[in-house]
Amino acid sequence: MPSSACLSCDVCCRFPERDSFLRPFFTADEIGTATAAGLPPALFPHPDGSQIDLVPNPDGEGYVCPAFDCATSQCRIYEARPLDCRLYPFALMWDAMHEQVLLGWDTKCPYMRDQSSPLVAQAADEVAGWIEQDARVETLVRYPRLIGRFQEDVIVLRPLERVTERLRQGRMQVRTQALTLGDRERMEAALAVSAGVQGTPLAAASFAYHYIWRHRVTYSWAVLHDHLCLFADCPDGLFMALPPLGAGPLAQPLAEAFRFMRERNGDSRVTRVENVPEACINEVRALGYRATAKEPDYLYEASALSDLSGESLKSPRAACNRFIRERGGILEPYEPRDQRACVSLFHEWREQKQRAGADDWASALLADAAGAHETALSDTAELGLTGAVVRVGGRIRAYTMGLWLNPSVFCVLLEIADRDIVGLGPFVFREFCRQARAKGACWINTMDDSGLPSLARSKQWYHPARLLPNYIVTEC
Ligand code: SF4
Repeated sequence: MPSSACLSCDVCCRFPERDSFLRPFFTADEIGTATAAGLPPALFPHPDGSQIDLVPNPDGEGYVCPAFDCATSQCRIYEARPLDCRLYPFALMWDAMHEQVLLGWDTKCPYMRDQSSPLVAQAADEVAGWIEQDARVETLVRYPRLIGRFQEDVIVLRPLERVTERLRQGRMQVRTQALTLGDRERMEAALAVSAGVQGTPLAAASFAYHYIWRHRVTYSWAVLHDHLCLFADCPDGLFMALPPLGAGPLAQPLAEAFRFMRERNGDSRVTRVENVPEACINEVRALGYRATAKEPDYLYEASALSDLSGESLKSPRAACNRFIRERGGILEPYEPRDQRACVSLFHEWREQKQRAGADDWASALLADAAGAHETALSDTAELGLTGAVVRVGGRIRAYTMGLWLNPSVFCVLLEIADRDIVGLGPFVFREFCRQARAKGACWINTMDDSGLPSLARSKQWYHPARLLPNYIVTEC
């Protein structure tokens, strides 16, 4: 790559999100060299090999590698930059089925786009030959995260046979499949026979809870020892989004799933099982795993939310009464034709929240939430969701979506209400809970608070009957 091309380009070393999966990975040796060249060790979450922490772009939007000098467009550690960066715009990635390691070139690089095919082919031969040498192959075996996931905008140049063969040696042959809407029935059937997951389920014990986030997380599933295992591929590697689902003990499927994640993730601490309910914890602890509590789900009595009676619920009751007195309005079923108005309301609501002063974490959640709301609003029926809207002055000013976790527990998955209309939020929530109660709900689950104090306060305002413990399970 001629440096003139790199110095006039604005692609490399800059990233749209802080946790971009494209941020460079440094091996333990490369971290040592980079820190000796002046990068603070704190930029590397795991000294035994990790992706570097990005920093906000001082000159604009997004994030940059901390080694990048925005004033000169140069790498401050150019001679010590990691293999990941040395290869670019060539890239190592798995094919879509995660069966073959490929050498590709990233079409995001404008220089490569302008080069002739013979020149690219010659360079690819040289790079492939170099990568397939023993030293590099062993580095890739030790650090499998140097091989990225399949990307459609990376053009495949060569399969890397030696690397693939070496990585497959002694490894589990697990056939994973991308999670699609067509898998809802399969997953719900597996949830229904998972003893520990039923009872009073967490909101995560549902298909839609995960599927609506597929713009941020790539979900796949596999069957291990007759249990359906739901995996989530995030920027840092692969984890399980739920414990293995199915009838019978967890010992074998859990052991296989951890082995599979370890093979994919190497030493990364991303290897874990999320959303493990209390009822499974004695079993997993007895198997020698570590269980750590995360934010619990909020569970309410459906009758309490429907009536809002008594001194403790005086404030939400007064807010509902004020909305009815000043604005009127009824809860109507959500129809597909309401989609555009709801998406537009979401964006208005997000601006209201940001004007009110959302912190960094809350802002990041809000940015991510747009895609989840759009999926829920467009695939409502396929996801098994029930939706409702409230119109004020003929315009939709609130919408909500929910689903049944079992015949007696209804989960409120999304709720958006114009923050400038006093009492609208409590009104839509109460009316939606009333509808669920009329259909048999004894309990209402409103999910966790994502660690946000403002969200925790609004959930506490309704006095939850219980907090449902939720655990992350890791190997000791
Ligand atoms: S280490 Fe250097 S080449 Fe690699 S992303 Fe950072 S600034 Fe760019």
